[in-house]
Amino acid sequence: APAQPPAQHLFSDAAEIEALRGNLLAWYDRCKRDLPWRTLAASEPDVDRRAYAVWVSEIMLQQTQVATVIDYYNRWMQKLPTLQALAEASLEEVNELWAGLGYYSRGKRLQEAARKVVSELAGRMPRTAEDLQKLLPGVGRYTAGAIASISYGQATGVVDGNVIRVLCRLRCIGADSSSPAVIDRLWDMANTLVDRSRPGDFNQALMELGATVCVPKAPLCEQCPVKQHCRARHRRLLGTCLPVPDVEDCCKQPGWGDSCCGSGYGPMVTVALVFAGVGGCPFCPPATEPWDSSLGVTNFPRKAAKKQPRVAWTATCVLERRGRCGAPEYLIVQRPSSGLLAGLWEFPSLPLALGLQEEKQREVLADHLQAWTGRPVAAGGLRYVGEVIHIFSHIHQTYVVYSLPMDGDVTLNPALSPSRWVTEEEFHASAVSTAMKKV
Ligand code: SF4
Repeated sequence: APAQPPAQHLFSDAAEIEALRGNLLAWYDRCKRDLPWRTLAASEPDVDRRAYAVWVSEIMLQQTQVATVIDYYNRWMQKLPTLQALAEASLEEVNELWAGLGYYSRGKRLQEAARKVVSELAGRMPRTAEDLQKLLPGVGRYTAGAIASISYGQATGVVDGNVIRVLCRLRCIGADSSSPAVIDRLWDMANTLVDRSRPGDFNQALMELGATVCVPKAPLCEQCPVKQHCRARHRRLLGTCLPVPDVEDCCKQPGWGDSCCGSGYGPMVTVALVFAGVGGCPFCPPATEPWDSSLGVTNFPRKAAKKQPRVAWTATCVLERRGRCGAPEYLIVQRPSSGLLAGLWEFPSLPLALGLQEEKQREVLADHLQAWTGRPVAAGGLRYVGEVIHIFSHIHQTYVVYSLPMDGDVTLNPALSPSRWVTEEEFHASAVSTAMKKV
């Protein structure tokens, strides 16, 4: 059985939980940001439309900042206001509405799931977090909890990056916050804390707190509505975590050295905790990286070191011709329907072997372009424009950009991926990635 954290890392006092809920909700009512999906969730009487509105926002907000999402969300809901509208749209329309938001498979998967609701569930969204997660592709535990609590009022918690940070600080959890043991405990905690009468508002309040007050680098602890419940803050101020009623589990003396917990774990348990932190506790910071007083509350949460992104190089060529009205036109081609940036459009591009000399780059790119243009392309005719770097979540991508003016008509080979000539304006309205816009 998984080890139960010591009381130091839990919420177990009913009066404290009640007080925390009240403080957080009162703050949320006063300070919450006015966001279009919140307005829709509060005003839409139809439960399926409401759930759809929340669902779209949650998918867009995964990995993307609120400020960026707002315009995309408004445009999307204007064009595709219902599940049915999304199910009937073409993938091209979906990609165009999503272009620039990143992580493009999200839009495609959202549409696949909407089609499933329409065709297999008679247009009716599953009504619980459990069913949402079970029945809808691409809907994980977090999204299901968010939809169910906000749209249906189901008393179920949510755990996202903001919630992880807030909870780890509230309860001095310094073990690797991406480890399954810690994540499981945080879900338990979120489910314990969630307000039974206003679960959607409570979940949004906890996330809002993480986004606006309990921020990663310089949290605004003095303005925090739950500061009196925060053990990390207490530790910063007094050199020890807040005492808890169970003397076995709490810090026994101020200035307990580097340990957050006392000796709640006996020797038998300690032996089993391979990755145990200071004092044998699996939820304290690891013994090798104890509390650092210069970091204060930002000692929490802790994460295992991130994997370095893969380095990739791509040659890309902007082929330009005079269009029918004299305005310049550019050739764009469609990427394959799976993998990175699936189905999006780009200038003809070619992955390069690392360390390939410029002369060689030109040669392979010229060969590649020949296939698109159906005529010989001289490597020397390619003009080097510069390099564009774009960071995907797991790839450090450098585009080596060339340009090539074309005369006369170029017949595009229909046997290759779809391709077309576009004006600059059409290019920006097409489903092209942010990386290509930079190019
Ligand atoms: Fe976060 Fe500070 Fe509030 Fe604690 S007191 S929850 S660290 S903002």
